[in-house]
Amino acid sequence: MYIPSKLHNSLTEKPFSHCNICENSLHETEYLIEKAYKRFDNDLGEELLFEVAICLPCIYTMRGQLSTESLLRIEDLFKEKEMAMQQQPELLEKARQQPLHYCLLSGKSVDHCKSYQVYARCSGDEISQQQLYILGDSILSEIQESLSKSTKEELERFTDEHVGGPPELKKLLNSGEVILF
Ligand SMILES: [Zn+2]
Repeated sequence: MYIPSKLHNSLTEKPFSHCNICENSLHETEYLIEKAYKRFDNDLGEELLFEVAICLPCIYTMRGQLSTESLLRIEDLFKEKEMAMQQQPELLEKARQQPLHYCLLSGKSVDHCKSYQVYARCSGDEISQQQLYILGDSILSEIQESLSKSTKEELERFTDEHVGGPPELKKLLNSGEVILF
């Protein structure tokens, strides 16, 4: 499956070509794309808040900076939500059929979200391992809450050392708003 245009670089309107952290080409490695949107009430559409493309080597380095405890806490949260979704097969089916419309971990429609994030794992200009999904506002705030103060400090240390990009990107990474999974 080709990367849908929603996940293209909004400036070039083409697939992302370089990692936002190490600036290496994305042609030789798999990479993750993450975009965050704010939704307006009354069907007034949505606004892109941020977008990043990060190569897997950078993702692994970042995860390596997090304590096992932090990683396990986030993993547990994902597992718990996935299991809850499996109890609701119709919801799960909808999320699988329309991955850009229903939250993978809650089944909530974007129409009912004030904000949401889109994730994709890519290889070249294709989606890799069918990893294309969104997370709605309620799940995102649970993930935020599950990040301890020390996790945020760990992320901060990493971005200070490795991220040369714009200060806005550093801020996003530090706050844990960019989710590394
Ligand atoms: Zn990179």
